[in-house]
Amino acid sequence: MTAKEVRNKTVVLAGGGHAHALLLHNLIRNPLEGVQLAMISPVRYAPYSGMLPGVIAGQYPPEALHIDLVELCRLAVCDFIHGRAVRLDADHSVLSTDTGRGYRYDWLSINTGSLPRSPPVLGQLGQDTTVIGVKPVQPFLAWLDDLEVQLPPLPSFSLGVLGLGLAGVEVALALEQRFCQRFSGVTIHLIGAGTLLSKQPTAAQQAVREHLSIRGIRLYENFQASVVSGGLQNDRGKTVFLNASVLCTSARPDDWLKGSGLKQDQNGFVLVDDALRSISHPSVIATGDMATLSQQVHPKSGVYAVRHAATLETNLRRLLKGESPIAYQPQHHSLTLLNMADGRAVGALGNIAVRGRWVWYWKNWLDQRFMKQFPRGYTR
Ligand SMILES: Cc1cc2nc3c(=O)[nH]c(=O)nc-3n(C[C@H](O)[C@H](O)[C@H](O)COP(=O)(O)OP(=O)(O)OC[C@H]3O[C@@H](n4cnc5c(N)ncnc54)[C@H](O)[C@@H]3O)c2cc1C
Repeated sequence: MTAKEVRNKTVVLAGGGHAHALLLHNLIRNPLEGVQLAMISPVRYAPYSGMLPGVIAGQYPPEALHIDLVELCRLAVCDFIHGRAVRLDADHSVLSTDTGRGYRYDWLSINTGSLPRSPPVLGQLGQDTTVIGVKPVQPFLAWLDDLEVQLPPLPSFSLGVLGLGLAGVEVALALEQRFCQRFSGVTIHLIGAGTLLSKQPTAAQQAVREHLSIRGIRLYENFQASVVSGGLQNDRGKTVFLNASVLCTSARPDDWLKGSGLKQDQNGFVLVDDALRSISHPSVIATGDMATLSQQVHPKSGVYAVRHAATLETNLRRLLKGESPIAYQPQHHSLTLLNMADGRAVGALGNIAVRGRWVWYWKNWLDQRFMKQFPRGYTR
């Protein structure tokens, strides 16, 4: 197929998640020829979650965390459309944004990430109840800055973190580092329905338990939480009184794909084949947290979102040339590096876990190396 034949094809990238950021980075050197490329994003600066706990704890400034999508698009010759995808008509290949405009595409790639799942709410909530998700990241960071200003005159403040997975643990430790070292009345409570880090090796769980205990973080396992006025309550009626709760619960998709016609899994994520194409609408590709592989489900994490980028790039090139796409090969184990926010980290791979300062240096080096690829320049 000649370049002329592929001209006029439109590729729309919905969301500036990890896979799309890496795709654009690669296209700077090796562009997609003869293609109209556009990214739709409600934010100019896309956060890299690997460094979020470090920003919460004050180890990095907020600029360190954010990829400048406008600049990345400029370098990759991709139109940046400032807006939120709010509706998809997959049968007619039209994506609409909150600005009221519709965009027709030949290929659509979805990388809009996920949000933390909200717990049920019991009764009327009073003014004393604050519940905020760790994502979207920018409003969460702004809320933390406001909280820091409000804390000094208060005699005590109980801050809950809901979720016993990697994100919950890292956020709880980062909040402890940020607030408890400076304000004596602050207590952090880490709460969740299951057990601590249930998908990680026992050695990593033990290391984290020790850290939580040394740092004075109160742990509540098997606590099926509902939000009640003034805190969280479990299904046996026990209440943890909290001034605010941060949601780091399991991933759920935003609801913009409702009514799209795309086949979705029971949680609403896009069901894709082994080439990351929608199983119902092959002109739609999904990556990162939004994608659920129909044949071999893997965890929803940044590591996998990053890995999807290479398959996405190869397949866009192949599909645009009329060739069949290649299959994505998920790795069996992925390295987990948990920032303890005190200059140490815990690493886990398969059944092995390590911990210490050197693990933090290693994590820091990997994260900084990842971010060095991208333009930054974040301002609030
Ligand atoms: C505190 C914390 C720490 C974590 N640490 C790690 C870690 O160390 N390692 C790891 O592997 N995973 C980690 N994760 C998980 C990781 O955040 C996610 O799995 C990862 O961000 C998913 O990447 P993504 O590319 O799918 O989407 P994201 O990186 O979340 O990006 C989605 C983008 O889409 C945009 N968007 C959203 N809705 C729309 C819309 N309707 N229209 C257009 N754009 C939209 C958003 O603005 C955002 O920029 C962590 C998560 C948290 C909360």
